[in-house]
Amino acid sequence: MATLTYTRIEDIPKIHATAREAFASGRTKSIAFRKAQIAQVGYLLKDNEQRIKDALKSDLGRPYLETELLDFAAVYGEVRMVYDKIDQWVKPQRIDFHFNWFPMGPKLVAEPKGVILNIAPFNVPVFLLLSPLVSAIAAGNGAVLKPSEQTPAFSQLIAELLPKYLDRELYAVINGGVAETTKMLELPWDHILYTGNGRIGRIIAAAAAKHLTPTTLELGGQNPVVVDPKMDVHLTAKRLLWGRFSNAGQICLAPEYVLVPAHFQDTLIEEMKKVYNTFYPDGPENSDSFARVVTTAHTQRIKKRLDETKGKIVLGGATDVEKRYIAPTVVRDVPVDDSLLTEEIFGPVLPIVPVKDVDEAISIIRSKDYPLAVYVFSNDPKFEEKVFSNTKSGAAVTNETVITAGVPGLPVGGIGPSGYGYYTGKHCFEQFTHWRVSLKNPGWVDKVAFGFRYPPYKPDYKKYVKGITSSLPPRPGTQSGTAKRWAFWLLFALVGAGSVVLTRSRGQLKA
Ligand code: NAD
Repeated sequence: MATLTYTRIEDIPKIHATAREAFASGRTKSIAFRKAQIAQVGYLLKDNEQRIKDALKSDLGRPYLETELLDFAAVYGEVRMVYDKIDQWVKPQRIDFHFNWFPMGPKLVAEPKGVILNIAPFNVPVFLLLSPLVSAIAAGNGAVLKPSEQTPAFSQLIAELLPKYLDRELYAVINGGVAETTKMLELPWDHILYTGNGRIGRIIAAAAAKHLTPTTLELGGQNPVVVDPKMDVHLTAKRLLWGRFSNAGQICLAPEYVLVPAHFQDTLIEEMKKVYNTFYPDGPENSDSFARVVTTAHTQRIKKRLDETKGKIVLGGATDVEKRYIAPTVVRDVPVDDSLLTEEIFGPVLPIVPVKDVDEAISIIRSKDYPLAVYVFSNDPKFEEKVFSNTKSGAAVTNETVITAGVPGLPVGGIGPSGYGYYTGKHCFEQFTHWRVSLKNPGWVDKVAFGFRYPPYKPDYKKYVKGITSSLPPRPGTQSGTAKRWAFWLLFALVGAGSVVLTRSRGQLKA
């Protein structure tokens, strides 16, 4: 394991103060400055791809392709999109036209919040650290990044690289563990984004509340998959195993358990066996296409749950805690109260839960916390609709797993215990933006309409107030205001047309 140099605790307040002073200097107001910094995030990656891939190989046993796909592609997509869209996003937002208020030019102006703290986890460290950084820069903020201490090689490398590419005062990396993060949380930030497990998420939210700091919490959960037996079984098996075994199962959006009609379980497993053999022809342990669990402690945790399962292991099952190895594993006939289903596994183990029908699948999903994603494998829109309309989750995805996070424009975000708020793209930009209300009222407005508000109040004030008060929507059960208005204009048009016809016919008679 690589060694990580922790930031000295006494330096943490200084880094915070430096970022705040740099932000106060106003240099982030320039959109050209922001664009240059965003581009630099891209070049930080581009120029150092190999070193980063090697660092993640060391930390997570990560195959290079997975780093390209999960981390690089997502950040490059983000850099390009935000760079291209920023001019549009920072424009003031006009509100809907209203006759009474339009002379005052009411609008919302995008202003940065200040200095953002981003606390990231170990599993997809480049993406989770740098993609929100791009949004923070785009919105005109400073940012301090706290990578995970569980990925020492990467965290050390990013601390070295960031100051070489970005403004050193505005953007900084703090490395450390619980003590360092606790120190950081004592300070007043302008927004905290935390990605990680829900237990720490609660600590972060409580610490942020002391300063009334707004937070975004990107947490985990158990993402269910509901399989329609009429679906292409090969495609289903392939995409499920890919989603569960990439990064050794350590992806927040990975499928966590599969709900399949009992009569279809054998068919699905037979297909999974075939796919498994094509994924790892020489077995997964020697494969260059399979990662490792981040620490021995996490490996032990996953192994314990596997040891306690009442299900039957049909693929994989081998473990080696010292080597941080859990074979890609599929377990069948897993009961709902099983050790594998109590909480998120976050490892390369896929439990299969046989159910009677789609209704039972839905009731199992509903008995658990809202997850980050609900997955359906089906070509039947009614099947899909039934599952999605009876469940809640951050994302609802058909015939695919995981990849939504990499689609530029689609944010990632949970609901309830899987978190709140969003990261990536415009949604993250808006989250790091303060929409400052703006209005400029010319003096003549008082003369024309608004002078009645000044004391001494006139006894006939009611008629003026009426002029600025909006009409209410129709009382429920009565004819709608719109229908009344249409009826009025129709009558008006008919009377108008009638009188024209009458006038013309009189003229013709006279002639
Ligand atoms: P982790 O152990 O790397 O911890 C995450 C961060 O929390 C680290 O930076 C760490 O230093 C910090 N931390 C640890 N203890 C702390 C404490 N006591 N006080 C303050 N900070 C502390 O990662 P993890 O939490 O194990 O991450 C895995 C979890 O993250 C999974 O549940 C996964 O589903 C979730 N996740 C969610 C998303 C998402 O988009 N919603 C993305 C990735 C991961």
